[in-house]
Amino acid sequence: MHELSLNEAKRVGRKMKVHQGPRIADLPQLAEHSELQRDIRVVSSVLPFKINDYVIDELIDWSRVPDDPIFRLTFPHRDMLTERDFDSVASAIDAGAPAKDVNAAVDEVRWRLNPHPSGQLEKNVPKQNGEALNGLQHKYRETVLYFPAQGQTCHSYCGYCFRWAQFVGIKELKQQSKDIETLLSYLQGAPTVTDVLVTGGDPLIMKTAKLANILDSLVEAKLPNLQSIRLGTKALSFWPYRFLTDPDADDLLRLFERTVDAGMHVALMAHFSHPRELETAAVEEAIRRVRSTGVVIRTQAPLVRHVNDDGAVWAEMWDKQVRLGCVPYYMFVERDTGSKQYFELPLVQALRVYSEAIEKCSGLARTARGPSMSASPGKVVVDGESVVAGERVLNLRFLQARNPHWVGRPFYAAYDPRATWLDGLRPAFGEKRFFFEEDAVDDWRQLERDDDLSRFVG
Ligand code: SF4
Repeated sequence: MHELSLNEAKRVGRKMKVHQGPRIADLPQLAEHSELQRDIRVVSSVLPFKINDYVIDELIDWSRVPDDPIFRLTFPHRDMLTERDFDSVASAIDAGAPAKDVNAAVDEVRWRLNPHPSGQLEKNVPKQNGEALNGLQHKYRETVLYFPAQGQTCHSYCGYCFRWAQFVGIKELKQQSKDIETLLSYLQGAPTVTDVLVTGGDPLIMKTAKLANILDSLVEAKLPNLQSIRLGTKALSFWPYRFLTDPDADDLLRLFERTVDAGMHVALMAHFSHPRELETAAVEEAIRRVRSTGVVIRTQAPLVRHVNDDGAVWAEMWDKQVRLGCVPYYMFVERDTGSKQYFELPLVQALRVYSEAIEKCSGLARTARGPSMSASPGKVVVDGESVVAGERVLNLRFLQARNPHWVGRPFYAAYDPRATWLDGLRPAFGEKRFFFEEDAVDDWRQLERDDDLSRFVG
């Protein structure tokens, strides 16, 4: 690892260099790992990979490759594909097949990798005058997700990204909005919305002027119920120079300041996967600068094998975050998409990691909730395991739900050491279905309509 001193980075005006796709196999650092190069070429033909020089030079410990956690996070590995999928793409590449045949093999594999988990497109994209609003999602009553077109990439990619389909150019899977007016007009007719999450990709990949168009427009719209703007980002981890030496870094901080001064709660939903990402002088200074604007940094990441499947790693990460003034927020369960089989852990193991971590931390770090699944009906946390009426069960609870009445309600699943997701669990006590599967109201919109009707009836 070669960490550039902050002064040196500022002096030279450090610029980001990125390496993407199969070409990353040619990086000089991999010259000594020739056995990995073919695997990298094959896997990166299917799944998106992009790595910048900060990650390569300052986060990865090359003496520990291939087991270095940041290498595992950002570089392709053979086991990210099943043997069958790997072989089908590898044989097309090895045979020197024409590009259209390689692409056909690649596309077939991509569609098998569940590119849009949890029914994101069908269930969450709202409609206006019968038209689906591409680039918006409105799953929970209070929160709208906005995907600005210019923010649909990241400074580097995580191998486990559940939005990978956004990056591989399958047109019909792209969620992006080209204009802010669509969002504003939707919000004007959606008075339940208190929070807008600007997400991607990574919205901080955008130039400050583009981001300012979004944030300033939201402020100027004076929507009476809007109180928070969240920015989902891994820039602090993958490119802290976004806040330090990028030509518009200072403008970004001024933008944060004026949005906060206008009375908005601005939260940077910062994605950190490993404590190493919090150790460089650049990230410490970037966090300090962001916090000086009044923006709150809340941290989250999925729990994944090979990168952070250890309670001590999370405890160290959360304690470091608290020391730097961030608020630990979520430990997520890896979603059912892309290279899930490479990164996933059974829920009971995720619970063990969470419990080990949380008991090691100070109370200030215990704001972290998890392990939480962003499943189709809502965010479900595994609270623990217990024995109820002689049956070993997992205790579950909705932290957020399509139907707000489900939030906070405990429910139980039969203990299953192999299940990795909500749909792999069975209800406990011999019941056929979970309570939410029996509820005729499975969406907050329906609730609103019923409330409206009851006003007239009652
Ligand atoms: S930063 Fe987020 S959106 Fe970007 S690759 Fe990682 S998980 Fe995906």
